[in-house]
Amino acid sequence: MWNWWKSKLPRPLPEFSNSPLSSYICETFPSPGKRQNPFHFIRPSGTPAVKVNLDRNSSGFCFGVQSTINVAEEKLRNEKGLYSLGDVVHNEVEVKRLEDLGLITIKTATFNELKDAPVLIRAHGEPPSTYETARQNNLTLTDTTCPVVAKLQRTARQLDELGYQVIIYGKHAHPEVIGINGHCRNQAIIIKHADLNDAEETRPLDLSRKTALISQTTMDVPGFYELKKNLEKLFSKGGSGNGPWTEVQGIAGRQPMAEFIFKDTICRQISSRNQKLHNFALANERIIFVAGKKSSNGQVLYSICKAANPESHFIEDVEELHNEWFTTPEGSTVESTGVCGATSTPMWLLEKVARHIESLYA
Ligand code: SF4
Repeated sequence: MWNWWKSKLPRPLPEFSNSPLSSYICETFPSPGKRQNPFHFIRPSGTPAVKVNLDRNSSGFCFGVQSTINVAEEKLRNEKGLYSLGDVVHNEVEVKRLEDLGLITIKTATFNELKDAPVLIRAHGEPPSTYETARQNNLTLTDTTCPVVAKLQRTARQLDELGYQVIIYGKHAHPEVIGINGHCRNQAIIIKHADLNDAEETRPLDLSRKTALISQTTMDVPGFYELKKNLEKLFSKGGSGNGPWTEVQGIAGRQPMAEFIFKDTICRQISSRNQKLHNFALANERIIFVAGKKSSNGQVLYSICKAANPESHFIEDVEELHNEWFTTPEGSTVESTGVCGATSTPMWLLEKVARHIESLYA
């Protein structure tokens, strides 16, 4: 079995006899002998141990989310009654931990009625209307919009001011997209399906207008370029936008820009993880992917794991683990299990899952 998995690894391979696989791709979860194991489990004698590899390279909070959590914890140390507009991160377990510290999660309807209170703006950012409501209701905002998202909001606003029809590659109901759209007067056209097969999404397109394509930060890079290619074809058929669209880096507004442009605004904190996660999934017999069900990034990264290793399983917490995932068709215990997750998954939760699996099978 091990030789089969080894044959699927990227080349060149490290020398496994001298260098443990886990140190090549990730940090090995410490063996029970080297740490305090909080679980009391006696493995049936004769059952081979499963090696649990915890991915610290391409899993866990991105810097934007980590910064929001740090600020929230700092605030909660000093004041009670801090409100968060929406889930502070798309991970229910982490949200619950922060709520236990005193954070109060509210929806937009409650926010609109709130007066004279402190409110946290999360990394996803908000549309201008949120800031206007806060001003009117005397709310004290702690704004932790990720700098990458804030830059994207500025880009959307500039493109709109320059008269471009703005297309966002993203998900309609995603809070980051709602925020970006707000920065271009809610006039952006949001497209999630890169193949342009959703008529509801393409109906508002005006094929005669100068147009700019940008992306939600957590979408997939191949999908973005597939959408660009399909838009080029569609606009060519419509009589405008002939040929490839022009890539732009900055939008200063000083020089005239081409009529049909695109700017790849996908966050590299995410996309740079893809290849590493792919390799990690190949290198383990089983993958336990930990993320919140609402996490857009979690779904993208999980699909990468699943494509690389069909024996990948998505969970939110340890209760969802199944015994049969760790057993081969021949009835023996698998040799290795990798634990990894999304940019919204806290490292403490990944460690908890790894410890749990280790306590059961290692
Ligand atoms: S994924 Fe990127 S853009 Fe989004 S919060 Fe994290 S660092 Fe910021």
